[in-house]
Amino acid sequence: MNDAFAGAAFVPTDGLVAPDEPAVVDLRDQPGDPFVFVCEHASNRIPRTLGTLGLPPEALERHIAWDPGAAPLTLGLAARLGGPAILQRYSRLVIDCNRVPTLPDAITALSEDTAVPGNQNLDDAARQQRIDAIWTPFHDAVDQLIDARLAKGRPSLLVTLHSFTPVYRGISRPWHVGIISTGDRSLAEPMLAALRRDSTLVVGDDQPYSARDNVDYTIRRHAFDKGLPHVMIEVCNDLLRSPAEIAAWVDRLANALTESALAVGQSPTNATRTG
Ligand SMILES: [Zn+2]
Repeated sequence: MNDAFAGAAFVPTDGLVAPDEPAVVDLRDQPGDPFVFVCEHASNRIPRTLGTLGLPPEALERHIAWDPGAAPLTLGLAARLGGPAILQRYSRLVIDCNRVPTLPDAITALSEDTAVPGNQNLDDAARQQRIDAIWTPFHDAVDQLIDARLAKGRPSLLVTLHSFTPVYRGISRPWHVGIISTGDRSLAEPMLAALRRDSTLVVGDDQPYSARDNVDYTIRRHAFDKGLPHVMIEVCNDLLRSPAEIAAWVDRLANALTESALAVGQSPTNATRTG
């Protein structure tokens, strides 16, 4: 067992997120099958007790702190296709809920080219506090939601939504959208095929990230390990800057997801095809 877990029983779990601050888990438990939508990087909020983690406020607006556009994209898809959405309300700079929490980049000290002063030299107790206050409740909520659906025999296809920066460490990325998969590509393959029919789109297969970059935690834990079809979708954040742009991606992804669900024997109950 990793040291960060070893002292768990002796570390206070409260005090990071104050009672008057927003709850970690934003659960929109809407009716509908078969999709479950998850957005781990929905917000750039930081618990008051951590200040700005020593960063200038403008740094918190950048992609290092969150996935701009991913939250409205997630909510738009859930509204369109039906089904629950779970969003995580605190910045990934506090703790990244799409990482194994004991890996160094779960609480990153250096995000892209920006040192995060408030994350330097954290001791085990400080790391454990972030795990206990944010990471664990978020994943417990996803577990409970999916397990409750499975107990009722409801189909559950996990879709996680992210956005990525068009330029990373000075290098331009060519993709408009990327599909990240695991060893189970039952939903990823039809998603790739559906999106690639639009010849104006550059569609990445396991780009700009892949499981090799340890970005598959959520889809692995909550879907692959339970035998559920799943897909992680990354949209370039440059294409999610206005409500109209986000609405266009909701349309595009809703159509592709509807088609992909059919490929695994499911049909969205609330889907209205557009475009
Ligand atoms: Zn993300």
